[in-house]
Amino acid sequence: MNMDPENIVSSAENLRLYYILPKNIYVKAVDGVSINIPRGGFLGLVGESGSGKTTLAEGILNLVEPPMIKISGRIYYYMRTIDKSTKTPIIKKLDLEQIPRRDLERLRGRELSIIPQYAMDALNPTMKIGSFIRDIAVHHEKEVSEIQSIALERFKMLGLPDDILNRYPHELSGGMRQRTVVGISTLLNPRFLVADEPVSNLDVVQQHIVIDFLVELVEKRLVETLLMVTHDLPLIIEKARYLLIMYGGHIVETGSKEEIWSEPLHPYTKMFLESIPPVGVRIEEKRIRGIPGNPPDLRFPPPGCRFHPRCPFAMDICRREEPPEIEIKPGRKVKCWLFVERKELKR
Ligand code: SF4
Repeated sequence: MNMDPENIVSSAENLRLYYILPKNIYVKAVDGVSINIPRGGFLGLVGESGSGKTTLAEGILNLVEPPMIKISGRIYYYMRTIDKSTKTPIIKKLDLEQIPRRDLERLRGRELSIIPQYAMDALNPTMKIGSFIRDIAVHHEKEVSEIQSIALERFKMLGLPDDILNRYPHELSGGMRQRTVVGISTLLNPRFLVADEPVSNLDVVQQHIVIDFLVELVEKRLVETLLMVTHDLPLIIEKARYLLIMYGGHIVETGSKEEIWSEPLHPYTKMFLESIPPVGVRIEEKRIRGIPGNPPDLRFPPPGCRFHPRCPFAMDICRREEPPEIEIKPGRKVKCWLFVERKELKR
């Protein structure tokens, strides 16, 4: 996979995002993550609950608000734009913390957008959906009628009723509110859309409506890159082209869907894939049985490799030292001592 800057949409360098608890205890939700997220298509950020996925998803969009704090790291967005002097297309690498707040606000919605987890609670209860849409149009200096018409089209694709603009959030079911937020998050055709567990509270039929909706936006290039955050790999395995596997606050493996599906490298990924049940078996039950032990407590993560208490291949060094990230080839990485040269292990 070509990981030149023009083929990357977002990157993070040594990103550490913690939550502060009373008595100065830190939850190390994202702990030293360096990633390049490839540009274009449907991507998946996958891991068990509590692995730090949501924190990372918010972090790469620079949505860092207390109690989350950034301990270290840089966050970049690679924006397509036109060079003013040469009038040719270029990719501009933006440090999302360094650009002025006003410019960042302008990027939100048009370039960067997120479908938040618990989307059904994201609407202002005192505003009709139509008023919300109008505010978005005004804020982004768009024609209200144009945005309203896109909204109605998107809501129709999501199976929502025609009169939705005249309804308050409390007049919608939970599933309808969630689909409404999915539609609103895509109104300005963001180039990079992060969808954080966007179907977790929906029934199976509604899940497919939302996934098909997002896939259609990507296929029509209305959204250039979609990063879907999920604990439910089977839900996205057919659609995704690239996967990032997260465990215990670290990215432990990346690669194309085909590479990870046919030849998973990290022991966690292998066990995660083996725990996926056949169709018709409840995933959560099977997964808990499939991987012995529990995910690490990110307040007090184990030393060394965070998977070592559950890993059948754990070695002494795994219990002592954090494994390095090994690049197998561009875009294909694994964070595991098994892939380090034997001479390194003899240190
Ligand atoms: Fe298992 Fe060691 Fe690899 Fe961690 S580093 S996954 S404990 S073999």
